[in-house]
Order: sequence, then C-alpha cells, then structure tokens
Amino acid sequence: MISRAQAHIDLAALQHNFTVVKTLAPRSQVMAMIKANGYGHGAVRVAKALRQADAFGVACVEEGLELRAAKITQPIAIMNGVSTAEELQIAAAQQLQIVVHHRAMAEMIAQTTLAEPVTVWLKIDTGMHRLGIPPAQIAAIYQQLNACASVKQPLHLMTHFAEADNPTKDTTQRQLDIFAQCTADLPGPKTLANSAGIIAWSGSHADWVRPGVMLYGISPQANKNGSDFDLRPVLTLQSKLIAVNALHRGDAVGYGGIWTCPEDMPVGVVAIGYGDGYPRHAKNGTPVLINGVRCPLIGRVSMDMIMVDLRNCPQARINDQAILWGAGLPAEEVARFADTIAYTLLCGLSQRVKYVEEHP
Ligand SMILES: *Cc1c(COP(=O)(O)O)cnc(C)c1O
Repeated sequence: MISRAQAHIDLAALQHNFTVVKTLAPRSQVMAMIKANGYGHGAVRVAKALRQADAFGVACVEEGLELRAAKITQPIAIMNGVSTAEELQIAAAQQLQIVVHHRAMAEMIAQTTLAEPVTVWLKIDTGMHRLGIPPAQIAAIYQQLNACASVKQPLHLMTHFAEADNPTKDTTQRQLDIFAQCTADLPGPKTLANSAGIIAWSGSHADWVRPGVMLYGISPQANKNGSDFDLRPVLTLQSKLIAVNALHRGDAVGYGGIWTCPEDMPVGVVAIGYGDGYPRHAKNGTPVLINGVRCPLIGRVSMDMIMVDLRNCPQARINDQAILWGAGLPAEEVARFADTIAYTLLCGLSQRVKYVEEHP
C-alpha cells in the first residue's frame, strides 16, 4: 500500500441503501441526489452504480454536464436552475431538466426559443424560504410556462422540507398542506421528500422521492445512525499508523500541547489530517479505529497527521490500519465530536484521498 489516506467505496452498500429507499417508498420513482460529487463519493461512480435510479439530481449545470460526458443517460435535474439564456441553451441541449424556483427564471425561459422543449420542475416555497416561488404566484407562473413552446408538458411540481429530520415538529405537516393546496388543480408529477421525508413522513412520498444522504448510508436525523434505519455506510475513510511512540507521564502531545499524557503510554500517529478532510474541530476523545479497536484522538488535528491514545490497543504497530469513519465507526458519531453533521465530512474529503471501489 503506497498511498496513505484511502476512501473505500462499498458499492454493494450503495445498492442496499437504494433498496431501503424502494422499500420505504414503493410507489415512488427515485431521483438519486448526487450533487457535490455524489456527496464526496464520486458522482459518476455513483450514477454508474445506480443504473436502477429513475433520475439523478445535481446542484448546477456543470455537475449535469459531467454526468452526460460520462454517458449517463437517465434524466438529470438541476436543483439550482439556470441564470442565463446561454446556460439554459446548454442545459436543454444535453437534456438536463431545470428546477424553476424564481419568477425571473420563468420569464427568461418564456423568452427563450429552444430547439427541443425542456422539462421544468416548478419549485414552490412552502416554508423553507430558501429557493422557491411563493404560493400566491404559482398559478400565474404555471400558466405562463404551460403556454410556452420551450417547456415540455405537463410541468413537474416540487418543494423542499426545512426540518423533516425532526418528526416532532409540525413544520413539515404545514409544508405538506401548503403544497397540497397550491397544487390541487395542477396536473403533473410531484416531489417533496428528501431522505428525512422518506424516512419519517410517508405522506410526503408522492410521485418522486429525492434521497441523498441515506443512499450513502447516513442517517438524516441528527441523533441517529444509519444502522438505525438499516442503512450501511458506503464510504470508509482509512489510513495507517506511521509512528508508535512510547511517551512519558507529563508529555504534551502535538501543536499547542493541548493534551498531556497522564501516565507512561503508547501514542500512535495516523497519516490523516485536515489536509485530507479530517475535521480540525474533532475534539479530544473522537474515536478512531485502530485494528478495529476504538482509540481516542488526542492533541490537535494537524494538516497531515492526528495522534491517538493507544492504551486500548498496546500491540499496535507501524503500518497497522486506522479507520476514521465508515465500516465499524459511523461518520455520524465522528461528526458529533466535531460539532458538525456527517454530510460535511463526506463532502469535505480532499484531492489527496485515494478512492478505491469495492464491487459487489
Ligand atoms: C440535497 C437535496 C436533497 C437530498 O437531501 P438529503 O437530506 O441528502 O436526502 C433533496 N432535494 C433537494 C432539492 C436537495 O437539494
């Protein structure tokens, strides 16, 4: 093994997580969300592995073009939409579907002549107040686009949840009610649910669901792990010990000396750091698996290395395996120690990490 940090991608786990989505939402088509390079797993890799997905969702036209260049033929929807007529032409020419979330975008489309009509997802702001057309404007914009030769019939309709990951709040039910009211008389396929909606709000499944994080084996609910929903981690980040040092009671470890050995003890140095995407804010005590045994992170995370307390694993030697998250150590748990969510850990891996695919 020449490389140090590796991201092992378990494509069988990805397949399994897709079947969990189908089991939860058996009557819905699935738009697999693979924006941000497939949540750090490799968008093309994920798209090729998920042949059974009915469509893919990405953030921007560039991400859609990358998939088309890799010969991905399913429908691809652009969540952030397009902002210029030129971008619209490029998207339409590659059969990318456009989320229209603003009146200005609807007007631009209405004024643009396209060689082939484009599929539009009309996005309604039902309460998230990020992207979306206010309910009061929907009927008029729907009519405008419906009458437009550049737009395929019927229009598709969508909204996005602000806190479906919190099943005890009534926000999601209110968003469901508003969506139902303003789309009651509008024909066309409908979609509302992200992973959190798929898991906790079966009434939101509609014609299409849009799973993201759950496909990668991660729980959308902050206080749970993917395994609580029968999901399996797809990405395992691993590296190795590059030093094992016998330190003495009172020795301070790493930059700033923020951790001091309470006794004579073995300390391991793992070849991973914030330069690889390991979070610098991971607190002392964040678990690291050394040869499958949980060992706590000690000292400050540096660019290329972290240190671990090896008292749980005194036999550990140079070149032994270290797992930072994934199989055997949920990314959700590491995220809690770093005051973040697993989404950011997955998206944040750097160029230096080598990807290794494990095929079913
Ligand atoms: C990212 C995204 C999703 C998927 O969200 P998850 O929480 O990862 O399931 C669904 N819909 C839209 C519009 C998104 O941007």
